[in-house]
Amino acid sequence: MHQRTVPCQGYFAPQKIEEALEILSGYGKEIKVIAGGTDLLIQYYDRLYEVNGWLDLKNIKELKDIRINKNQMEIGAMVTHTQLENSEDIKKCYPVLSQAAADIGSPQIRNRGTIGGNIVNASPAGDLLAPLMAYDAQFRLLSTKREKIVPVEEFFIGPKKTILEPAQLLTQIILPLPKKKTYGCWIKIGKRKALIIATITLALVVKMAEDNKTVEEVRTCLGSVAPTPIEIKEIRKKMVGKNYDQLDFNQLGQIVEDKISPINDIRGTREYRKDVAKNIMINALKEIASARRSYR
Ligand SMILES: Cc1cc2nc3c(=O)[nH]c(=O)nc-3n(C[C@H](O)[C@H](O)[C@H](O)COP(=O)(O)OP(=O)(O)OC[C@H]3O[C@@H](n4cnc5c(N)ncnc54)[C@H](O)[C@@H]3O)c2cc1C
Repeated sequence: MHQRTVPCQGYFAPQKIEEALEILSGYGKEIKVIAGGTDLLIQYYDRLYEVNGWLDLKNIKELKDIRINKNQMEIGAMVTHTQLENSEDIKKCYPVLSQAAADIGSPQIRNRGTIGGNIVNASPAGDLLAPLMAYDAQFRLLSTKREKIVPVEEFFIGPKKTILEPAQLLTQIILPLPKKKTYGCWIKIGKRKALIIATITLALVVKMAEDNKTVEEVRTCLGSVAPTPIEIKEIRKKMVGKNYDQLDFNQLGQIVEDKISPINDIRGTREYRKDVAKNIMINALKEIASARRSYR
């Protein structure tokens, strides 16, 4: 029988961030940070790496808060998907993020899995990554030596690769508070409805000017079509400053299709992903059009 226990030299579950950082700086690569464990334990049992010790973040209350601080929202790295799904503040300010969290795995996974784990695991199919990019998120990285605030675009450098250093913890996700008349749409395509890794995801966020007609800003972010989440920046040029009612949705969908270069894998072919990307972009634009019309 395959024995699923592995020798481990230490387990730490500090209550303060400062203690966690001290432990990290002492052990460096020798220790593995564990949040909900829903990615990590699977990789560990598959022997993807050796672990000599665990730094468990579960007792650090500060990392479980969602709070508004001046003109931004700060989400602790240990906030679970269930919290993101149910928080009134997140639902109101970042509905695309809340809906993406609600689409993750199963209730059990959503109760344990955290936003910080989803980010640091850096899977190209991580569901929260495109929404975070669409909302211009920044990540607070702490070590005993310094604090660094990094935008999403700079954090991911490849599949499962980030700029996080062994002595650093991701402590908070920082999001600018949205202006009024910001609309969003989340679409996840997979082979079935629940417990599915995405074949493609789209997070579209559009900020309208005071007149509720002119597009002021737009972020078109996709997951599962590249090694990291990506934004299709060409869409900005076509939409910003334009009257939403006069946009050519078909042309915008075509731009998304043309600009992505996905791979073939077990979840879908390159052609399928490109075709779907166009269609979900058109659907997202239509959904925002109807939300905009019902704005009072
Ligand atoms: C059955 C199943 C279904 C799933 N479905 C989905 C899905 O639909 N969509 C999806 O996106 N994901 C899915 N996942 C993957 C996983 O649940 C999520 O990525 C989850 O958010 C990971 O969070 P965690 O807290 O469990 O991370 P962990 O497994 O604890 O950690 C993941 C990685 O992040 C590091 N880490 C965690 N927190 C920090 C921190 N604060 N600072 C520094 N490093 C840190 C860990 O060292 C590890 O390398 C699924 C997993 C399973 C098992």
